[in-house]
Amino acid sequence: MELIYMDYNATTPVKPAVLEALLPFYRQQFGNPSSIHWAGRQVRGAVDEARERVAALAGCEPVEVVFTSCGTEADNMAIKGTAAARRGEGNHIITSRVEHPAVLNTCLALEQLGYDITRLEVDRHGRPDLDALTAAITDSTILISLMFANNETGTLFPVREIAALAAERRVCFHCDAVQAFGKVPVDVRGIGIGLTSISGHKLGAPKGVGALVVRTGTKLHPLLNGGSQERNRRAGTENVAGIVAFGKACELAGAELAGEAKRMATLRDRLERGIGERIPHTQVNGHPTERLPNTTNISFRDVAADSLLLNLDMAGVAVSSGSACASGTLKPSHVLAAMNLESAYAKGSVRFSLGAESTEEDVEQVLALLPPIVERLRNL
Ligand SMILES: *Cc1c(COP(=O)(O)O)cnc(C)c1O
Repeated sequence: MELIYMDYNATTPVKPAVLEALLPFYRQQFGNPSSIHWAGRQVRGAVDEARERVAALAGCEPVEVVFTSCGTEADNMAIKGTAAARRGEGNHIITSRVEHPAVLNTCLALEQLGYDITRLEVDRHGRPDLDALTAAITDSTILISLMFANNETGTLFPVREIAALAAERRVCFHCDAVQAFGKVPVDVRGIGIGLTSISGHKLGAPKGVGALVVRTGTKLHPLLNGGSQERNRRAGTENVAGIVAFGKACELAGAELAGEAKRMATLRDRLERGIGERIPHTQVNGHPTERLPNTTNISFRDVAADSLLLNLDMAGVAVSSGSACASGTLKPSHVLAAMNLESAYAKGSVRFSLGAESTEEDVEQVLALLPPIVERLRNL
């Protein structure tokens, strides 16, 4: 059986050139970048170079990149670090109902400590309303945390408008750009984002490395206290190999971005159209145009997503229903629930997400496998 991976939004395979780049740092170049001797010097330059590469793709200064262990840590650092740094200014945080659990559950934890959290509703395309955001800002608002692109639907948020609004009201804007980074341009400086979360394993680097881009002048307390790594913003000996890999993945993603976006969109559109033509009663969820090029979220009426997932898995096809963190539970995804999908469609939604190794053959194979599975499940 041929295995087909269409779950790139959950994680990606490490790109071959990225693996090549990182291996020496698990072999000869094992030093601690804080050490002043030759072993430390050997790796310090590699970390600096990786920082430059990440900064180039993020559109920020290298000193603004703070490496973390993952996107989740970056989200925690942004939100808890702002809450701690702005204790005297207020206790109100604005987010949305469709954020990743790394943001939602961090906000929930702060709520339990007495912070006031506003969770914006979204429209049927999964975007928050800017007037509602404007209305939600109060004198005690210290942070707006809204994502760049939704991981389940691919819907892009109006981040330029959100950043402009946040600047006008002098509120810090944190953007979880984990899913957008490397797929669409994320221009931190140009857009004006104060804090930006990114993660390596979503763009061809290994799991266990991420970063928070902290724009110069942004007030933030560290999450981890300890040594003076990352200019006192994130203690702990650096994941040198992971950081080098992240840098390499950013370099590759930057060089390939425009071409890959086009290729992904072509494959995705072919998949979407093919499913629409072959299977009745389906619908595409998310924004029709303002969306990531690699992602499609499709509902199959009167089909349970978990059964569909299981049957596709048995046929060798890896896809996801909602976020990886939520699968295994039978609840309809919080994202689709917030978008008020018709109930006949809400429980039968599957996310197909493409990436570097996806091919036309993969798409054709899925288009051949899917109709009989859906028909069988509908006839049960
Ligand atoms: C994957 C993801 C995260 C979490 O990143 P990790 O590196 O897996 O912790 C956060 N936000 C979004 C939108 C994601 O897609």
